[in-house]
Amino acid sequence: MKDRPKITKVEVHQFEVRRKDLITNPVNNITTYQPGAVTTGKAHAIRIFTDIGITGDYVGGSATEYSALPLFVGSLIGRNPLDREEIFNNAKLVLRQHARMGMSQVDIALWDLAGKFYEAPIHELLGTYRTTMPCYASTHFGDNQPGGLNSPEAYADFAEQCLEMGYPGFKIHPPWVYDSTEEHVALIHAVGKRVGGKMDLMVDPCCTLNTFGDALKVGRACDEEGFFWWEDPFRDGGISAFAHRKLRQLVKTPLLQLEHLRGLESHVDFIVADGTDFVRGDPDYDGGVTGIMKLAHAAEGFGLDVELHVVGPVRRHLMAAIRNMNYYEMMLVHPKVIPSASPIYKDGYRDGLDAIDENGCIEVPQGPGLGVEYDWDYITKHSTGLIVYD
Ligand SMILES: [Mg+2]
Repeated sequence: MKDRPKITKVEVHQFEVRRKDLITNPVNNITTYQPGAVTTGKAHAIRIFTDIGITGDYVGGSATEYSALPLFVGSLIGRNPLDREEIFNNAKLVLRQHARMGMSQVDIALWDLAGKFYEAPIHELLGTYRTTMPCYASTHFGDNQPGGLNSPEAYADFAEQCLEMGYPGFKIHPPWVYDSTEEHVALIHAVGKRVGGKMDLMVDPCCTLNTFGDALKVGRACDEEGFFWWEDPFRDGGISAFAHRKLRQLVKTPLLQLEHLRGLESHVDFIVADGTDFVRGDPDYDGGVTGIMKLAHAAEGFGLDVELHVVGPVRRHLMAAIRNMNYYEMMLVHPKVIPSASPIYKDGYRDGLDAIDENGCIEVPQGPGLGVEYDWDYITKHSTGLIVYD
């Protein structure tokens, strides 16, 4: 029996990551293709130190998440980091007025630590279901650049390219705000006509459609093209169970909701209110590995699938341990943005358009914990802030 470890210190690092050929609009915080541009973003990392020399590390989560950390991080010092369920429940209680910000990143780092302690990858601690997982290509938001995602035909061309690369699914993120719903509908038809029946198609207007009526028009276009799902259509912000129940009564295409409601209970309430077909989950919003496994099992109990949002090692481990999930969301992909390895990984781990095999699949990392080696030299060199809790 190994000695029980104790948490001695928690560090939160903020650092800069630069990306080429992308520009972020300060008005809506949306990043789109612009050749020659360089965008500088802030990233965050958490390190949980113990008295036995093992650390739990995670790079992910926004500044907003880390802002609530001071409310409960003190309770971690001196604790056994393997008591994840107790720590999760305490954080949930303490953060009840603060949208449970920050507890997800702590939980993921604790799972990384547990994996290193038991010398096993997270998916194995959870119980492995698979090690190879299919992806859908999830596009950048549209742009108006030459060679970019600048027209319905350009999206259709790119969908065809993704199909040829092996992707079994393709999700459209339209231009951030279309001038008219008709353009949105034309985009769905262009992609549907080109690759419909050959790959699963999805669309995510990201809550930009102005009215319930606009949402209906887009949903009916999805019906005509046999889309696999449509997601977060209109400006309720994706949180009205009543409105989405009504949409489900009027549109045949399955709806995917719940990216914008946090945690197990609100997800289950929304399912029971008939507000969704697929259940969205995100380990950075919904309580980390612990929260997502609760959610996946709750969805399984309803006979529904949980679909995880965006990319990264922790999503791979979760998908490897979840039966009721269809796709890994390879995002954000674009015909002209050259995929490159993220500088935060020392071991070559990468996501991106070409990070799939010929069948459109990715593998789960097999090292202990998250199974990736973060480049702390890079993170330290590009640091814009460090907070130490001890
Ligand atoms: Mg979405």
